[in-house]
Amino acid sequence: MAKSTETAAQRAQRTIHAGGEWLAASSGATREILDPADARPFAVVAEGDEQDTDLAVAAARRAFDTGDWPQTPVADRAAVLRRVADLLVRDRESLGLLESRDAGKTVEEGRVDIDCVADAFRYFADLVAGEGAGRVVDAGSPDIHSVVVYEPVGVCAMITPWNYPLLQASWKIAPALAAGNTFVIKPSEITPLTTIALIDLLAEAGLPAGVANIVTGPGHTVGARLAEHPGVDLVSFTGGLISGTKVAQAAAVTVKKVALELGGKNPNVVFADACETEEGFDTAVDQALNAAFIHSGQVCSAGGRLIVEESVRERFVAELVRRARRIRLGRGTEDGVECGPLVSEQQRARTEDYVASALAEGAELRCGGKRPEPSPRRPESGYFYEPTVLDHCHRDMRVVREEVFGPVLTVETFRTEDEAVALANDTEYGLAGAVWTADAGRARRVAGRLRHGTVWINDFHPYLPQAEWGGFGKSGVGRELGPAGLAEYRESKHVYQNLAPKPVRWFTG
Ligand code: NAD
Repeated sequence: MAKSTETAAQRAQRTIHAGGEWLAASSGATREILDPADARPFAVVAEGDEQDTDLAVAAARRAFDTGDWPQTPVADRAAVLRRVADLLVRDRESLGLLESRDAGKTVEEGRVDIDCVADAFRYFADLVAGEGAGRVVDAGSPDIHSVVVYEPVGVCAMITPWNYPLLQASWKIAPALAAGNTFVIKPSEITPLTTIALIDLLAEAGLPAGVANIVTGPGHTVGARLAEHPGVDLVSFTGGLISGTKVAQAAAVTVKKVALELGGKNPNVVFADACETEEGFDTAVDQALNAAFIHSGQVCSAGGRLIVEESVRERFVAELVRRARRIRLGRGTEDGVECGPLVSEQQRARTEDYVASALAEGAELRCGGKRPEPSPRRPESGYFYEPTVLDHCHRDMRVVREEVFGPVLTVETFRTEDEAVALANDTEYGLAGAVWTADAGRARRVAGRLRHGTVWINDFHPYLPQAEWGGFGKSGVGRELGPAGLAEYRESKHVYQNLAPKPVRWFTG
């Protein structure tokens, strides 16, 4: 169809971007994007498949092999990234709102996400612009000039989840572009809208056509094709353990570089001494609530495992439950709402299943455990679920071992420091964890023993773009953010120059 005769609705369905062109799916298939607050469709996107993926990879390949971006001076690449950050600030309200409707979070959370996305672009712009032209190596002779230089990996495939759609994308896109790569991104099929919008901002900021490509569509087709594609040099995946394992297996066939940011089962360890003052108690309870229930617990680093010292447990849990009951659930775009719905019916059903299994295994339900009463700001058709506290849990329960990814907090107790550490480390994951204590020595000791990629002392959830993010164990492979987050997108090359070449005479003939 001639583009000039298209309706607005048809234009909106061209959400595949390859080589600078917005395209519909080659099959013509589309997908409705639902608002999790009422399950009503509010957007339609192209449902891409393997053929669309091949097209996008070919465009990224061309842009890398024959385009200017990989050779663009670092200062110019950094300038593009900074312009992207400025455009994100300009569009903060509309993007924050879009993220809220797409992922079900409150608009304020959506705005904070966009601020963090802009920070990621600025951080990687500054990091790359501040670097020298490689690392000179002492080869032990004035006749040898030896330098290690860093070059882009090539075509990067990026696969992202639905909980922080644009933020997770930015932790990949910003360093990949800073390093001079081209990319194809596949956002989650249920929350693709802000990533689509970002592709336009990248072009507006001056990124050459073909460098940034997107294919909207499902994991088992588009994602799987990206992971196995021979034209892709690196695949960076953020999502669940099961899909991540499949991505790693598919990528191994062509020996791609692989970065995996997977799930977590994150302990929040509270020592009694953190609760000795009223202020300390109030802060620890407040942050335990935030750790577990922000974004309805759909956070990879959610503090869903409260591990509290036996002597303060009753007081701590009682206050936590009192506050959890008061969390205002509703549509994320409504004023006064503190927590939105779960992202999908599937995610709520999964949460309900975990709660049922916990109760069957002997946990005590202290609050929640059900869908809330509908109200004008909480339509019955929305995927709401009450913040849930399960007491008397133990490490053998499924709900304690597996990632719920919903508003469910389990409570376990300990008596000694060793027991606290053993419990906190008793997980196949290792993404993040926290320790609350007034004893500075204990804080450092416990932090040092926790086998998790991020450890908070007397805090929960903050991250810094300058500090690496990633997991031990089955929480993943590699790191995002920080200098290591840039290194993921680079190959190092040793350039050894002999300034006074002579024969080596190893062979005498
Ligand atoms: P998911 O694994 O279901 O999906 C993630 C992405 O992978 C989606 O884009 C999906 O379409 C795609 N996908 C699914 N199957 C695939 C396949 N076979 N091949 C290629 N791609 C495939 O995860 P989700 O439900 O979207 O997100 C929740 C998960 O993400 C949680 O486990 C959470 O802990 C994790 N997560 C981790 C981090 C982190 O930084 N470690 C951050 C956010 C989310």
